[in-house]
Amino acid sequence: MIAENIKTGPRARLLEAASLAARIKAEAKAEIERGARACLAAVRVGEDPASAVYVKNKIRACEEVGIRSEHHALPGSTTTSELLDLIASLNTREDVDGILTQLPLPTAIDETAIIDAIDPSKDVDGFHPVNVGKLAMGRPVFVPCTPAGIIELLNDNAIEIRGANACVVGRSQIVGRPMAQLLLQRDATVTICHSRTRDLAAVTRSADLLVVAIGRAGFIRGEHIKPGATVIDVGMNQVSDESEVRSLFGSEAKKRLEVVAKRGYTLVGDVHPAEAAEVAGMLTPVPGGVGLLTVAMLMKNTLKAATLRRR
Ligand code: NAP
Repeated sequence: MIAENIKTGPRARLLEAASLAARIKAEAKAEIERGARACLAAVRVGEDPASAVYVKNKIRACEEVGIRSEHHALPGSTTTSELLDLIASLNTREDVDGILTQLPLPTAIDETAIIDAIDPSKDVDGFHPVNVGKLAMGRPVFVPCTPAGIIELLNDNAIEIRGANACVVGRSQIVGRPMAQLLLQRDATVTICHSRTRDLAAVTRSADLLVVAIGRAGFIRGEHIKPGATVIDVGMNQVSDESEVRSLFGSEAKKRLEVVAKRGYTLVGDVHPAEAAEVAGMLTPVPGGVGLLTVAMLMKNTLKAATLRRR
């Protein structure tokens, strides 16, 4: 007889997103080839290296798909009023379909004023109050790209949302809140957790579907996960400390340490990968998971904006 507590080694199926992301981009490319036209204006302020990489990836995806793009890289000294002037001119330009302002903006800039200034019909990030409100009312137009991509991933893998106990850890405007809305609209029973949640593990452990977006490397451990649950890890954190890499990645640590030696860091999500692999039924990898879908969904939203504006 096999004792019930014997570990059988990593067993979670990895929900790789590369092929889905490629398919979403290929569909966008096919639309362009059939004659659709779209232009995305990406605005970045200051020299935050992560923001520079994110915008570069978005511009590269536009090139891949055939969407025209503009990259407005402004100095860190830019004022709120200068940025509002740029947004106003992009709003009025007939040839611009989508506007994205890479967040976070430097602290001296009034981020809320900038988000509110973007024409909702060009708000391809889905952050404008009009689009947030429409999503909350169950009448989505532009849905933030990361949670929208997660829904595509769940659908693509035939993971049942209806009736599932879903738990979203994190309540940010860009991930947690819209994620919870989308799951609710698909008939999940949704719980939202945050930094003030009492006994987080007791709540997350009751979830069939656990989405984590908190920004803390490997924070969600095996004890937080219901055996067999689907775990979606939105986090993107850099780790470089050797002992941390070893404790996070277990048998995969050697490969990850090679990445650290080459690049100076390796990426880890908000979920402890080695422990989650032992408990979860399905798990998104980092990298290779949710992050790839975010950019693909931006292409989809930009084409949607162009289609809605030009019809
Ligand atoms: P955020 O705006 O910093 O929000 C973090 C959320 O996590 C907050 O709601 C916070 O609660 C909650 N939180 C923090 N510590 C917690 C704890 N100990 N227990 C429970 N909840 C806790 O973060 P975000 O912008 O949503 O990003 C989250 C992560 O996702 C980051 O790693 C980011 O890099 C990544 N991300 C990835 C993508 C992608 O494309 N893959 C896209 C966006 C973000 P309070 O509200 O109570 O403070």
